[in-house]
Amino acid sequence: MDRTVFKLPFTRGAATRYQCPSCSKGGLVIVEDSFSSKETKASRDMHDHPAWGPEYYGSIYSGILECSNAACKEVVSSSGYGWDEEEHFYDEDGNPDCDYVSYFRPVVFHPHLRPFPLPKGLPEDVEKEINKSFSLIFTDPPSSANHIRIALEHLLTYLKVKRFTTNNGKRYYLSLHKRIDILPAKYDGIKDIFLAVKWLGNAGSHSNHNVTLDDVLDSYELTIELLDEIFSKKRKQAQSLAKKINKRKGPK
Ligand SMILES: [Zn+2]
Repeated sequence: MDRTVFKLPFTRGAATRYQCPSCSKGGLVIVEDSFSSKETKASRDMHDHPAWGPEYYGSIYSGILECSNAACKEVVSSSGYGWDEEEHFYDEDGNPDCDYVSYFRPVVFHPHLRPFPLPKGLPEDVEKEINKSFSLIFTDPPSSANHIRIALEHLLTYLKVKRFTTNNGKRYYLSLHKRIDILPAKYDGIKDIFLAVKWLGNAGSHSNHNVTLDDVLDSYELTIELLDEIFSKKRKQAQSLAKKINKRKGPK
């Protein structure tokens, strides 16, 4: 996963780094006549300030982006905010000059981006939570991290880790931490990854912790490892079973 895609702003007239959420092959390109930006009130109100300069300029934008893959051409709407930055360069005669460049940072994409591909065979409830996380990545990083934590709960259920215990005939739900602890030994190699994603998600559900976009991206990188370990192992087991059946040309 290329983290810079989510961290860097974009400019008009240049290709964006965003990948198409439908085909995952094309890049998203701004449809020029759909794109507009306007200065915010806070920025306008600053004009009379003695220290005002173009670097205090602030705007909002909205626009449509289109997939560059001719076989797809999916359209995605986006909105967010913008600002200007001074850029220094040398003119044709080699004299130093400067100009202001407008940068934009997205807050929303609809349909949402897909920061990493999901493996085949992923349970529907896990997929749903990961997609919720994707849809909140820019607007609400703490909630985004928390949805990955919920995806882990579903993933543990899929791995047949029990959800509750009984004591004196009463049912008690097991904490996520406890459930990770009782993962079968064959998953020992990924227990630490499970725990790390849990901590990031926990922080997202408690308002006294500040969860940033970087934390969400960390949890995505860990989740990619987890899913790869779990689903590629299952795929390998299925491939080896298929090989045996094919060699026998039938059941045992
Ligand atoms: Zn596409």
